[in-house]
Amino acid sequence: MGSDKLDLPNSVSWRLDLQPVWFPFRRLLSSASARRAFAILAILLSIARTEAQVPDRSSRFNGSTAWTTGNPGAGVIKYPIPAIPVIEQNRSQAIAWAETARRTIVPTMHLVETDHFLIFSAWNPSNDRALRNVCEEMYAKLSRQLNVMPSEPVWIGKCPIYVFWKTQDYLRFTAEVDKTSARRADVFHAAGYHSTRGLFSHIVLNGAEDFGQTRDGAIQRFYEVLVHEGTHAFMNRYVTGRTIPVWVEEGFADFMAATLVPLSDANLKYAKSARRELERGGLSKILDKKRLNYSEYGVAQSLIRFMIRSNPQAFHKFIILLKNGKNEADALRESYRASREDLLRNWAFANR
Ligand SMILES: [Zn+2]
Repeated sequence: MGSDKLDLPNSVSWRLDLQPVWFPFRRLLSSASARRAFAILAILLSIARTEAQVPDRSSRFNGSTAWTTGNPGAGVIKYPIPAIPVIEQNRSQAIAWAETARRTIVPTMHLVETDHFLIFSAWNPSNDRALRNVCEEMYAKLSRQLNVMPSEPVWIGKCPIYVFWKTQDYLRFTAEVDKTSARRADVFHAAGYHSTRGLFSHIVLNGAEDFGQTRDGAIQRFYEVLVHEGTHAFMNRYVTGRTIPVWVEEGFADFMAATLVPLSDANLKYAKSARRELERGGLSKILDKKRLNYSEYGVAQSLIRFMIRSNPQAFHKFIILLKNGKNEADALRESYRASREDLLRNWAFANR
């Protein structure tokens, strides 16, 4: 109902994803060192692209699906088509928030507009090109992974991302402008979040200057959070707005971050987390949890990574079935022809 009406904070469908801070806060970045790190990152991103597309043919799990030929996305509605007035309203809303932030919080905030994003950056404009490239790279990778043509607009218009350099500016934005902290005080301690309120969805990233123990680590962490939250925003629009099991949602967001940012924590830690969990043998409990801890993100990612590498078409079908309201057991059976126990057994075998 009322698809042309903006639903703001009181909406029952208000949802928030928080990305917790892993690193202690330090102030170590300068814009010159940040530029150097961007140059390194650009190279790493191109390596990650190549690496991520190599399927693991040795997996036993690979042969368990019949759905390996043809175009698995054919005839599937990939995202709800938005009405033009909603697109315009969302854009006005996004720009109004940025304008308020520029006037009252951080005068350097400016718009970097790309094909799919409205990036409102408080960073030095010398970083605009890097921000633009990473966001579009992320969109292209998500599109490929989920069989959407890169030219298709999954968002309602473009996805707004608010990027801060100083933590104090982020804190004021979340308290005074989008007012997210009034609902969730824990955003004060988050590295960033994705929030959906009715038909308006946006991403906010904390002050990057405080993101890591080293300056390069801080830049890696910034992009890791960006891709993680960007994946949630994309998944929120993909096929339907239905939520999917937490381990799938978080595991996939972490997989995307690990794939696009190879030096990220998400990429460096998942194998270790998975091994530790295998030794402990408590995995099935993680799959039913509503909130994951640090190590459990890694385990969920390892499972998702295994599913994608084993059979990317089946993974795509699995997501579409979940998004259409199938429960996990039915979706697994119809996509991978497997039960949860089969999945875990095969995953454990692959990680021996
Ligand atoms: Zn998340």
